[in-house]
Amino acid sequence: MSEHRCSELMFNRNSYRGQTCTRSATVEREGKWYCKQHDPVNVEERRAKRDEKWDAEYKARNSQFIKQNTALKYHEKLVDALRNLLHAYTKISSEKFHESLSDLMCDAGEVLREIDKQTEKRGSSNDT
Ligand SMILES: [Zn+2]
Repeated sequence: MSEHRCSELMFNRNSYRGQTCTRSATVEREGKWYCKQHDPVNVEERRAKRDEKWDAEYKARNSQFIKQNTALKYHEKLVDALRNLLHAYTKISSEKFHESLSDLMCDAGEVLREIDKQTEKRGSSNDT
């Protein structure tokens, strides 16, 4: 057992002026002694781990948000494209359908590329 006591000042409802930690110190950092729990290096490590976890959670939520936002943004365009496709399919003779189909496919390709760009561009900075 160390002769030093932890120098961490702790606050609780019973001592608003603070009370030093009662545990025995195990490590000295820059002239002050600390127990395992209050060792600044340990505290920093725990904080970093917590930040990492929060960061990962934030990134997951953010990329979910981007996907939902993009889906909302392009919902109308996609529905219109499908409606046009269905219209073309039901109303137009089969030769003409093939012609308009290739136009519609170009539109669809364009919308899909836009969507990919939006989700990739904003998602990529969050990749781990
Ligand atoms: Zn302590």
